[in-house]
Amino acid sequence: MCGIIGYIGKKQQAKEVLLHGLHTLEYRGYDSAGMALWMQNQIQLIKAKGKVSVLADKVNDDAINSHIGIAHTRWATHGVPSEHNSHPHQNKRVTLVHNGIIENYHILKEELLQHGYTFTSETDSEIAAAYIDYCYTQTNSKLEALSKAYHELKGSFAFGILFDDDPSTIYAMRKQSPLVLGTSEDAQFLASDISAFLAYTNRYIILQHEEIAIIKEHQIEIIDLQQNVLPKEVIVSELDVQAIQKDGYDHFMLKEIHEEPQAVEKTIHSYMQDSIEELKESLSYLKDIDRIHIVACGSAMYAGMIAKSLIESQARIQTDCVCASEYRYQQPIYTKHTLAIFISQSGETADTLAALQMAKEEGCLTLGIVNVVGSSLAREADHVLYTKAGPEISVATTKAYCTQVALLSLVACYFAMKQNLLDANNISNINKDLKNISSTMESLIQQTSYRDLAKHLYEKEHIFFLGRGLDYALCMEGSLKLKEISYIHSEAYPAGELKHGTISLIEEGTPVIALATDMDLYEKTLSNIKEVKARGAYVILLISENLKEHVTNDACDDVIYVPETSKFLQGVLTIIPLQLLAYETACLRGCEIDQPRNLAKSVTVE
Ligand code: GLU
Repeated sequence: MCGIIGYIGKKQQAKEVLLHGLHTLEYRGYDSAGMALWMQNQIQLIKAKGKVSVLADKVNDDAINSHIGIAHTRWATHGVPSEHNSHPHQNKRVTLVHNGIIENYHILKEELLQHGYTFTSETDSEIAAAYIDYCYTQTNSKLEALSKAYHELKGSFAFGILFDDDPSTIYAMRKQSPLVLGTSEDAQFLASDISAFLAYTNRYIILQHEEIAIIKEHQIEIIDLQQNVLPKEVIVSELDVQAIQKDGYDHFMLKEIHEEPQAVEKTIHSYMQDSIEELKESLSYLKDIDRIHIVACGSAMYAGMIAKSLIESQARIQTDCVCASEYRYQQPIYTKHTLAIFISQSGETADTLAALQMAKEEGCLTLGIVNVVGSSLAREADHVLYTKAGPEISVATTKAYCTQVALLSLVACYFAMKQNLLDANNISNINKDLKNISSTMESLIQQTSYRDLAKHLYEKEHIFFLGRGLDYALCMEGSLKLKEISYIHSEAYPAGELKHGTISLIEEGTPVIALATDMDLYEKTLSNIKEVKARGAYVILLISENLKEHVTNDACDDVIYVPETSKFLQGVLTIIPLQLLAYETACLRGCEIDQPRNLAKSVTVE
């Protein structure tokens, strides 16, 4: 969601650095782009609706370069996607790029109108620019103006700011929305995430709330809102530029599906080596838990549904899985020993972060499951478990989801052991399956021509997913993946529920993707599948390998065999064919796979 990049350096290369940064940030989702450059003693704005490549054509037309500038990809929240609403916004002496939402913009706008300010866009961001200028007039000090604005602007923001009487500084500050600062000897950067400047430096500083960054050619100074200079911690990123390139794959999504086996292995081995019994030690801070809330959004919530099913069935602890935007307002009930688990790839998901704050205020123990090291969720939860997916560029998540499922499975194993519900034999079987998990995943990726199966799907308007128990949770994610990237309408149903209404939509040729990999429930599911098959559905069946004898003509048209593994690990396997089916279907429809329309990678607004 929105990308910010800023550059100030010795070399006159702002255009290249900013365009490169914007291209790298494209994955976050956006509808327009723009940049502001100091050129010939004034700030020049260049903006374009649509892709960064359109902006690049405009920028490259201009022969002059600069050593300082800020740029932005906008994901519209206030005002239509258009050139005049795109950032940077300029009002009087202030030019800024903004990620987030200024919630009290209409009140501030009234005030500013009375003081003679006028506006050319419909955005909340332009109000912020004008308001900072207004504060500057009142205080006659840039830093005091920023500090005053920080207190008065409600909502969320990450700002990169230029003042038109200061051609050698970029100012930055943030509340909730992410912002990191890159540093090298003769150039400094700011960005929504480090991938945007990783080609130039791997040394970065995380800007915290209630801090202001004063960024000059040779140095970055961080101060608090009272203008005290703060110590800064420079982190060296281990990320490799290679990790954010397509590496010969047609799309990041396909590359990231192929990285799943390795990512899952890495995630698991960060918390145990040979046996799940090691978890008793590494997760020992999770004790006396009698109730669990799992809170997340989108795919992360569907990963949470798998955990709910596993923890309740295998560890017998009452577990709720709720989407964060509902959880915040439903007045959750906590026991003395409730654990609240918050899952987010970016660690910056606004609703999930707000839900975490709420649980903390209630005195609840909190655990974050996060991919991005040092992100807000990782810093604010009592404990954090990192998924080791590496950078995920495709907007539709695949490998990050897979690692969330893997990590949550370990948490479920831990609770099952704590409750004495796994005997030595169970433990040894799980350990064996864990040892083989990445090679089993690899063979599943290669096993079938998912493209051939997708030929039965890509021209259809509606597709249904059916499954029970764990399979139902996987259906939710499979259906979401298909909707996100192929724009085909699909619904996931508990297999037994379909005949209570929705079966009326099944007609000759309606595709149904049916899952029967949950060994406790497959017989029931197979009966439901036969019901839709008898009504003309075209059924693609995903079934455990050892159930081959149940694959009959009255049950399916096509079949994908999923290797059998422990119930705890079934999720990371069964999801693979669903991701690849969604991918191939979207390819056949000619969709823009890595950046689906309207979607943003990390949803940093409520
Ligand atoms: N609220 C601002 C706008 O609509 C910023 C959106 C963003 O984060 O891209 O322009």
